[in-house]
Amino acid sequence: MAEHDAEILAGQLENMSYKETLEKDKADVILVVTCCVRQSAENKIWSMLGTLRKIKEKNPSTIICVSGCLPQRKGAAEHIKNRFLHIDLVIGTHNIHRFSELLREVEEKKIRLIEIFENDVETALHEGLPVKRAHDVRAWVTIMYGCDNFCSYCIVPYVRGRERSREPEEIVKEVKELAAKGYKDITLLGQNVNSYGKGLSKRVDFSDLLEMLNEIQGIKRIRFISSHPRDFTDKLVKTIASCDKVCEHIHLPFQAGSDVVLKKMNRGYTKDEYLELIDKIKKAIKGVSITTDIMVGFPQETEEDFEHTLDVVRRVRFDAAFMFVYNTRIGTPAAKMRDQVPENIKRDRIQRLISLQNEISLLKNRELKGKTVEVLVESEAKEREGWLCSRTRTNKLVFFKGEKSLIGELSHVRIEKGYMTHLEGVVLE
Ligand code: SF4
Repeated sequence: MAEHDAEILAGQLENMSYKETLEKDKADVILVVTCCVRQSAENKIWSMLGTLRKIKEKNPSTIICVSGCLPQRKGAAEHIKNRFLHIDLVIGTHNIHRFSELLREVEEKKIRLIEIFENDVETALHEGLPVKRAHDVRAWVTIMYGCDNFCSYCIVPYVRGRERSREPEEIVKEVKELAAKGYKDITLLGQNVNSYGKGLSKRVDFSDLLEMLNEIQGIKRIRFISSHPRDFTDKLVKTIASCDKVCEHIHLPFQAGSDVVLKKMNRGYTKDEYLELIDKIKKAIKGVSITTDIMVGFPQETEEDFEHTLDVVRRVRFDAAFMFVYNTRIGTPAAKMRDQVPENIKRDRIQRLISLQNEISLLKNRELKGKTVEVLVESEAKEREGWLCSRTRTNKLVFFKGEKSLIGELSHVRIEKGYMTHLEGVVLE
């Protein structure tokens, strides 16, 4: 979500005739797009903001802007204003459409500006903003903003606001424009895509939206992220199985295996319900790959609770997982829970979890040796002369030697070797 926000902010900069540079010392404008979902990400931002002071001292005319969900967190914008006097412009998540206007004001009046809209004051969706896409073959399309789930550890509903869905016509229009520009692979974005449709004038849900997008000429692959197990209906499973462009990859965060922990997290499902859903998905969608998010060290998590997490990992055999140690986010209910798990125990659990999941990811990728897969070629491979980087429908990266002319095309590759994070193969004529 933050990366796509960056594309929208970059689109506005481009419209103002700014050109991208990665050399901070030479930039007229430095834009920091922040994420505060995890404390570690937030710490990095504070330290980065500190280092930018030197650039401002060397080049006082450089305008430094901070955007994203950190300034939206209670008290953070004030902190930036008072502690980081070299920051010129601060905006939140609800007013990115105003970025270029505010930046012009800072440029012309040589002032500092801070503008944050509260969730319940200004939540209108703004269509048609310019976007400078980071990729040529695949594109992100936001279908909904915010989240109503209020998982007890999560700050997203406080910094991204309540759920708001875009009108389906607007989404279809954007995807048709992307198809006309040659994009082939789109990823639908939202904090909880499968609750798409709440509050719209027409009755339309996520399955209906997938069916509409599946009809668009030129688009070859449709993906989506993230799904919530609670809202994953039978209708959705059936739709994914029947829409030929919807890829066989589901990212379905489970977070914890223990029912006690799931309840404290306010996740709205049990371990058995999650496993049943996975079974249903595996049976209905042939060759599906499943990835997940897992958190260890939630307050009061016991060794027995953690064993349930390992059990889910063993039983599902995820293709990959984002694995995190629980971080306290001030302002969330979990931050006030007693018996926070000591850091050394969290570290031990995350290491055990990562080593189990890595072993499974490696085995699953090795199982693909000798198989032929359809890939969409995305780019040249970084630091591998003559190699291309491509992606399977199941979201696995495949590297192979080939001509640059294949970029943007679908090809067939025979897998020769599976690694933990990617595959290598040979393109078939
Ligand atoms: S569903 Fe996801 S974004 Fe929403 S509150 Fe829970 S963890 Fe946060």
